[in-house]
Amino acid sequence: RSSLKIGLLPADGIGHEVIPAARDAILALGSTIPKPEFISLNAGFEYFTKKGVALPEESIDVLKNECDCALFGAVSSPSKKVVGYSSPIVALRKILDLYANIRPVVSVAPTPGEKPSVDLVVVRENTECLYVKQEEITPGPNGREARATRLITERASRRIGTMAFDIALNRPRKLLTIIHKSNVLSITDGLFRETVRAVPANAEPAGKYDEVTIAEQLVDSAVYKLFRDPQEFDVMVAPNLYGDILSDAAAALVGSLGLIPSINTGDSFVMGEPVHGSAPDIAGKGIANPLASIRSAALMLRQLGYSDGANRIDKAVDEVIREGRVLTPDLGGSSKTQEVTDEVLKRI
Ligand code: NAD
Ligand code: MN
Repeated sequence: RSSLKIGLLPADGIGHEVIPAARDAILALGSTIPKPEFISLNAGFEYFTKKGVALPEESIDVLKNECDCALFGAVSSPSKKVVGYSSPIVALRKILDLYANIRPVVSVAPTPGEKPSVDLVVVRENTECLYVKQEEITPGPNGREARATRLITERASRRIGTMAFDIALNRPRKLLTIIHKSNVLSITDGLFRETVRAVPANAEPAGKYDEVTIAEQLVDSAVYKLFRDPQEFDVMVAPNLYGDILSDAAAALVGSLGLIPSINTGDSFVMGEPVHGSAPDIAGKGIANPLASIRSAALMLRQLGYSDGANRIDKAVDEVIREGRVLTPDLGGSSKTQEVTDEVLKRI
């Protein structure tokens, strides 16, 4: 590549405050990576309220046809149904077939080189489960009855399982924990569990995953263990909803949602996205933590093969956290988004 075309979709709320920080971190890398070109794209609930569409065709076209990768901020999804609106991030994951959401949760050790006390990755299936959003409500003898379809397919479970095994294989502990609730949902979660477990038997070359230790955990006790003893986990693979909840919970272990990055990825595209939402309670105040967004840029670059660039960004972020002098209020500091960003940029 002679240049790197990056779609920017800040979307809603603090997305507008943290995505520019990620962009600036990429720019600060200079010639470490191919020359970045940024393309700003519309999406989100704010855009929907102005234009009547949450994800314009143009944004989809540009992402599909022009961009090498993208960064997404966050969307505000109303908790009541709004006619004509559906979440653009959920749609994009499907349209671009970004079937995996990879969420590393890593604490920063007090001294460089020391082992972090929390170091795990949540690998979340990104296209199905309850997020197929087939809900209906009908009148019934006990008042209205609401139902939702929870879809688990073998194909989606196999490919997320394969990705999780690959991630586990490349980590020192090589431990993969399958998260499910098949004691209750024996058919849906049963299929997920069974399909992920079958990945090594069908691997090519045979024996590829022999070094990976497979464990499993019911989702409720997984949350319990996560808080009691996070070191029990290395890579966790989960259906969509459990993965969403687990990674927000795991964020509490390292201090703030404002620190946790993710990528949405498939076989051909990668989109960085901080795990947090649009944070309406702090939006517009200039105090959102930009580090999750900046780390998402690093994850995206690493996935594209630019690990030198990714490492420089991660190292700069770790230093800022370790020093603890310039931090946003969610981490007990009193600095602004821009001040924290500047500290990171200086170190890159
Ligand atoms: P949230 O993640 O937006 O916020 C939860 C809490 O964490 C809030 O107190 C917020 O101030 C804080 N927080 C989050 N990110 C932060 C940051 N970078 N710096 C400092 N503090 C931060 O979750 P919510 O409040 O439940 O949801 C708000 C909106 O975001 C909702 O409309 C929801 O649908 C949406 N949401 C979107 C996504 C996404 O785009 N992928 C994910 C989660 C929630
Ligand atoms: Mn979430």
